Amino acid sequence: MTDTLIPGADELRARASRLDLRTQAFIGGRFVDAASGRRFATENPATGQAFAEVAEGGPEDVDRAVAAARKAADSGAWSRMSPGDRKRILIRWADLIEANADELGLIETLDSGKPIGDTVPLDMPETATCIRWHAEAADKLYGQVAPSPEGTVATIVREPVGVVGAVIPWNYPAQMAAWKLGPALATGNTIVIKPASTTSLSLLRIAELGAEAGIPDGVLNVVPGPGGTVGEAIGRHPDIDAVAFTGSTEVGRQFLHFSAESNLKRVLLELGGKSPQLVFPDVEDFASIAANVALAIFWNMGENCSAGSRLIVHRAVKDRVLEAVQAELAAWAVGDPLDPATKIGALISRGHMERVLRYVQVGREEGARVVAGGEQILEQTGGYFVPPTILDGVRNEMRVAQEEIFGPVLSVIEFETEAEALAIANDTPYGLAASLYTQDLNVAHRVARDLKAGVVGVNGYSEGDMTTPFGGYKLSGFGGHDKSIHAHDQYTELKTVWINVAAR
Ligand code: NAD
Repeated sequence: MTDTLIPGADELRARASRLDLRTQAFIGGRFVDAASGRRFATENPATGQAFAEVAEGGPEDVDRAVAAARKAADSGAWSRMSPGDRKRILIRWADLIEANADELGLIETLDSGKPIGDTVPLDMPETATCIRWHAEAADKLYGQVAPSPEGTVATIVREPVGVVGAVIPWNYPAQMAAWKLGPALATGNTIVIKPASTTSLSLLRIAELGAEAGIPDGVLNVVPGPGGTVGEAIGRHPDIDAVAFTGSTEVGRQFLHFSAESNLKRVLLELGGKSPQLVFPDVEDFASIAANVALAIFWNMGENCSAGSRLIVHRAVKDRVLEAVQAELAAWAVGDPLDPATKIGALISRGHMERVLRYVQVGREEGARVVAGGEQILEQTGGYFVPPTILDGVRNEMRVAQEEIFGPVLSVIEFETEAEALAIANDTPYGLAASLYTQDLNVAHRVARDLKAGVVGVNGYSEGDMTTPFGGYKLSGFGGHDKSIHAHDQYTELKTVWINVAAR
């Protein structure tokens, strides 16, 4: 987190009224209206009020964007630019994002309901860090020379796949975009990216900063609009070579169909989760565990694919852990996302809030006890606020333990033996993340090894950082990873060049 001084809510509201928002599609280096001329309203989830209208792209706009991206790919202006120059442009872009973090964070907060205390000091610097990290790798990736027989030379090189499509969710709009843009652009591809329709604005401004940094026209294209039209057109486009998707498992599956039914484009899917947090009976530092448990489930209003939504806790320490988590909730102020003290802002939409509250009701009907939260609050604001909610007495076969709620709802499940804890942890269709708390090195190693999850945190909740890959097992992912050098694999093709060398 950078050390940023965020002004108060009144000053931020004044700044918000002066924002000059980018609301058109960004195609071929220019902001343009949708071909249909249509626009859709984007609302502030903290007030329920529409505050901007965004160009509503459609298949025709995807065609235009892909044509621009293909032209840029074929010209070699980006893919054949010296990697050092590409690196310099992307680093300049990252610097511009960081320099404009106040404005971008404000846009993100207005559009998504995320607290300003997260968007300015965390989301935007992380977005910049991601782009910078991949940029720095651009001129450090070597090919290989194979041990081929005498009289031959065989090189194995990585080339950009060409035109990449990306479709991303609304929970971390800028960061999720960067997780695709960073590796795809650093490896020399061009891209057509669609933000979630609820959160288009930060990415449009970030694209403009990309042009300012020197990214050539057509290399980066943004087409806002609905998933069912723009998203599907990207998934099915015959001239897109790879598609990277982050979102729900249900929509992710569709991208495999789209690929199979079009041009067999590569598909990378980062999907949902129902991640366990296991607490073993030998733990002692209850306050620290509670802080981590709360962060894992309540950060970003629980709208987090790797949210630790199941607390699987040993019977002997359950009461103490739950007490400590409830005490920790005092630190999780719910309210105006423009107030720097707020830790929990608004959920993304009325429909999503209603879905989250329906799950709480389903939990009650299944026999769980609501021991914190559970109802909408701050209704007078017009916004969609749900406080940290804890369901105790959950059994793993209940829907609230099996299905992704994607809100601030923690399901508490007891266990007695290590084997039972592991069986419960692995017994969902998902496998994105997991965390475990113990002082016993043997338990830590055994359980970390046996958890079916792409990221395991021991004695803390963390996804690691840009140096480590992020992806899921089972229904949580497919086809590759975001972050780290491994993210470059899905945006590059391996090519063998086999050369016969004539004898002297
Ligand atoms: P979503 O699947 O509804 O939407 C994701 C994106 O797909 C959006 O841009 C949307 O417009 C588009 N889309 C929707 N329907 C489409 C269709 N029929 N064809 C093509 N595109 C379509 O997901 P969401 O509600 O935006 O985000 C929440 C989900 O994302 C959760 O399941 C969460 O776990 C997951 N997520 C996963 C990760 C990860 O890295 N694993 C990260 C963040 C979010």
